[in-house]
Amino acid sequence: MQKSKQQNIAIIGGGASGIFASLRCAEVAKEKKIDIDIRVFEASAKLLTKVRISGGGRCNVTHHIFDVNDFCLNYPRGMKELLSPFQRFQAANTIEWFRKRGVEIKHESDGRMFPVTDNSETIINCFIQEANKHKIKLLNKMSVKSIKKLVNGKISLFINKDESFVADSVLIATGSMPSGYRLAKNLGHSTTEIAPSLFTFKIEDTVLENLSGISFSNAALTLKINGVKPFKQKGPLLITHWGLSGPALLKLSALAAREMMHAKYKAKIIINWLGIENQDDVEKLIITIKNINTKTSIGNAYPRQLTKRFWLQLLIKCGISKEKNWSEINKKDFLHIITNLFRCELDVLGKSRFKEEFVECGGINLNEINFKTMESKICPGLYFSGEIMDIDGITGGFNFQHAWTSGWIAGNHMPVRKFL
Ligand SMILES: Cc1cc2nc3c(=O)[nH]c(=O)nc-3n(C[C@H](O)[C@H](O)[C@H](O)COP(=O)(O)OP(=O)(O)OC[C@H]3O[C@@H](n4cnc5c(N)ncnc54)[C@H](O)[C@@H]3O)c2cc1C
Repeated sequence: MQKSKQQNIAIIGGGASGIFASLRCAEVAKEKKIDIDIRVFEASAKLLTKVRISGGGRCNVTHHIFDVNDFCLNYPRGMKELLSPFQRFQAANTIEWFRKRGVEIKHESDGRMFPVTDNSETIINCFIQEANKHKIKLLNKMSVKSIKKLVNGKISLFINKDESFVADSVLIATGSMPSGYRLAKNLGHSTTEIAPSLFTFKIEDTVLENLSGISFSNAALTLKINGVKPFKQKGPLLITHWGLSGPALLKLSALAAREMMHAKYKAKIIINWLGIENQDDVEKLIITIKNINTKTSIGNAYPRQLTKRFWLQLLIKCGISKEKNWSEINKKDFLHIITNLFRCELDVLGKSRFKEEFVECGGINLNEINFKTMESKICPGLYFSGEIMDIDGITGGFNFQHAWTSGWIAGNHMPVRKFL
């Protein structure tokens, strides 16, 4: 049998998605007996930098949801496009992929999944071992500066000052680095507006003072930005030394990422701390507490879903002395309490990075990519995977899952690409 001609594969970016793609590429080439030369060009001195620092050094690899429709709901951008890729490679496949290579993955009560070692180095070591096994060339300090389509259908890369490489297929997996967008634009692609996603809110208000670390299990949040339909979200909320954070708030930041950037991170957030859906029920709750505790000071009898520290701070915001007995609470006080419990309005003054995970929203226009192969619809032989695309997930392992899935699909197709 005649041996097939060697395929040269270039992967730009030695991050989560690029490395995962390179491994899948090598596996497919081996299965199909394709002679292949895979090179991963990484601009920095180290591969997998974000994987190393991810999830507070533990690497939240994916999320414990195995229904792909439900999984997709966690992507403010890319929800529709990811449905078919996840049907081919989803969280269950990620877990199995790692298990087959000796890395066990566990899940925590909130659905986040980590290596059992709680150490991102476990993931990195696994990838490096696999790459070495497949003889993939991992090339650090190799910054791809420009890219050109050749008349024979191949693609030429220009690296650092004076190096070049001609590839049959090229994957751009440069995350949210501007240089990646530039390379794609050189080959005819366009990008959507880039904005930070997954951030916490800076808020200065009496009701939050000295309460860092206090959380609410099911707060209902409404974000009001001038001239835009309000954004709503419900779930766990956390008070920080700086303002507000927690899963519900981070999801809200992702949903409103672009609008918040346009508004220079100035907005109003309305908080229903207890998450009780209608005001009548909050009133009933407070009336019950009042009736049972007529002889008790208001500082000592409060809804059991709240902490005492928060309740006392809420009373300060309402201008009510904690020493007052419940029997002394007048209609005005009562209304203040209800308003601040049910629709506490706070000014958002700015944003701050969420240390555990942050991503950019925006990237290569999704209608320019074939999601069956991750190949460009504009430039045959060019592929995309990971954060460079206009896809981003909420916190909890969704961003890595997208990086693995899109890398896996690109890796599946690059070695068997048909030249036109
Ligand atoms: C602090 C932090 C913690 C996070 N934690 C989590 C988490 O626990 N779970 C989760 O799901 N997500 C997490 N994320 C998000 C996740 O890390 C990213 O979504 C994911 O890494 C994207 O993968 P990628 O391969 O597309 O890009 P990246 O991982 O960013 O890799 C891109 C690589 O391309 C290289 N590159 C760029 N331009 C060039 C060029 N011209 N030539 C050569 N190389 C180039 C870069 O140096 C980089 O190494 C976290 C993000 C941060 C910042």
